[in-house]
Amino acid sequence: MEPWKRNLYSLWTVEFLAVLGMALVLPFLPFYIRELGARELEDVKRWSGFIYAAPFFLAVFTGPLWGWMGDRYGRRMMLIRAVFGVEVPADKLPRDLGIVVNNVATLVAIADYFDFGMPLIERIVTVTGRGIKRPSNLIVPVGTKLRDLLDACGGLKDDAFEIVFGGPMMGAAQADLDTPILKGTTGVVVLAESEVKAKESHPCIRCGHCLDACPVFLNPQLLGSLAKAERWEEMEANHLMDCMLCGCCSYTCPSNIPLSQLFQLAKAALRRRKAA
Ligand code: SF4
Ligand code: SF4
Repeated sequence: MEPWKRNLYSLWTVEFLAVLGMALVLPFLPFYIRELGARELEDVKRWSGFIYAAPFFLAVFTGPLWGWMGDRYGRRMMLIRAVFGVEVPADKLPRDLGIVVNNVATLVAIADYFDFGMPLIERIVTVTGRGIKRPSNLIVPVGTKLRDLLDACGGLKDDAFEIVFGGPMMGAAQADLDTPILKGTTGVVVLAESEVKAKESHPCIRCGHCLDACPVFLNPQLLGSLAKAERWEEMEANHLMDCMLCGCCSYTCPSNIPLSQLFQLAKAALRRRKAA
């Protein structure tokens, strides 16, 4: 059986048994509580209710914890490991193992093309941030000017300062309002002046915050010092290509070292060197 099917059936079985086990407790719980010593009907009802509600009540508090773990440890590579039972080696891409991970929008675009002959001509773009008057999710034709998109959201507020394509951590600031929306533009964040502070960069104090923050367990401090010396090959040997440019290391660095930007430059330099 293919690994992904085996995993799917295992998950289904475990989930089914877990829910069945929880539900099976229900008819017997009042009898058990009576066995424990509760004699009054009201006591039996109250304790049965408390005990049955406890897991769901707990789920309210543990849900954010699982979400945090998912944000920290979950990404495409983890998804592949969970579904296919294989680990993508550090120097390989999922496609080297015959695996492609696509999001729903990509699958819909593929279906539109093959079913209706319709190429990708529009995409959903989120426009948000404190600097925009009316944050919105819009279906936007590819090629729409940024200026028109902002107008459709009520325009910029007076304190709008910087416009970023992508998220605030990984996005790229835009210099021109005539920049077109492309097929890869998923979001536009308009930052207010109070949110954008030019910070002076200081030498590394080896605090280790960036190591704790890296979700793929790289050593951003080492990579940062190699990047400053333009030692690209050594960066590659230290798994630069596994860096997903999430920006967590830059965000946590108390010395304001633009680590992820340095890594982006290093990746570009390596690509250029390999293409030459
Ligand atoms: S967070 Fe910044 S200062 Fe701390 S070790 Fe990493 S690069 Fe150095
Ligand atoms: S930008 Fe790269 S090195 Fe920095 S935290 Fe993200 S994955 Fe790790």
